Amino acid sequence: MSFEVTILGSGAALPTQKRNPTAQFISCSNRSILIDCGEGTQTQLRKAGVKIQKISHILISHLHGDHYFGLVGLLSTMHLLGRDQGITVYGPVELELILKLQLEIGGTKLGYSICFVPLNGLEYKCLFQDKLIEIHTFPLKHKLPTNGFLIREKQKDRSIIGDEFKSAGLSLLAIPFFKKGEDYVNELGVTYHYKDFTYFPAKAKSYAFCSDTIYFQEVVQYIKGVTVLYHEATFTEKERERAKKTMHSTAKDAAKIAFDAKVGKLLLGHLSARFDDGDLHIKEASEFFENVEVVADLNVFRL
Ligand SMILES: [Zn+2]
Repeated sequence: MSFEVTILGSGAALPTQKRNPTAQFISCSNRSILIDCGEGTQTQLRKAGVKIQKISHILISHLHGDHYFGLVGLLSTMHLLGRDQGITVYGPVELELILKLQLEIGGTKLGYSICFVPLNGLEYKCLFQDKLIEIHTFPLKHKLPTNGFLIREKQKDRSIIGDEFKSAGLSLLAIPFFKKGEDYVNELGVTYHYKDFTYFPAKAKSYAFCSDTIYFQEVVQYIKGVTVLYHEATFTEKERERAKKTMHSTAKDAAKIAFDAKVGKLLLGHLSARFDDGDLHIKEASEFFENVEVVADLNVFRL
């Protein structure tokens, strides 16, 4: 099953010709999740070829406009296209009221239901799980209460080596034991070791999203060992004072977090409109963490 991250918007506060404000589409084990929904997200979703009616979960990090000004537009479009399947929106508590007002004043009555789950930006919590994936939230540190997100595949059971299993003439009753990594004892008392008949499947992958935040060492515990970390890097070292004042990170801050959390790969985004490219971000970050990339709109990352 695939796990893909599509960057819909890679810029900070001001949309530019090259960079839309924050939004990301995550496809994980056939589940469709949207993280943040800045202005212009629905046109970016179209450009990326995403089937918007498949989106079942929308996660909003915080209520600065560049992270949610596109939301009511997207929800309205889903309605106009005939959606009848409910959707779950997770975000700061005030978001529910904002959406309600925007829809009511415009006289829009959605043809589907929104299940709204309030987040406070203060705690680590599992928001959703089914048999294939889990979605968690954790606190970030910013000017407003802000939520980070973690999406994880569930670890699959051990896989049976068909040939070995058949040639041993084993009963099918052994399968559930082997899949869980347990030995099987048959009715005659003979023990069969699970390791002889199974192999460990691919390690479950995970993706963490940290935007917006000042350098915040506490997040390391929540994102330890993730396959890919997206961390905002609005500024470089030259703008360190500005980063502090606006409670954003520099590329170096993000790289330190990636190093401490021992993540597999670091993606940098939410670049200030003052940067034409991300070359300086890469230079400064790679002093602390080598496997780093600056994202651009419509980039797709396969985990
Ligand atoms: Zn913000």
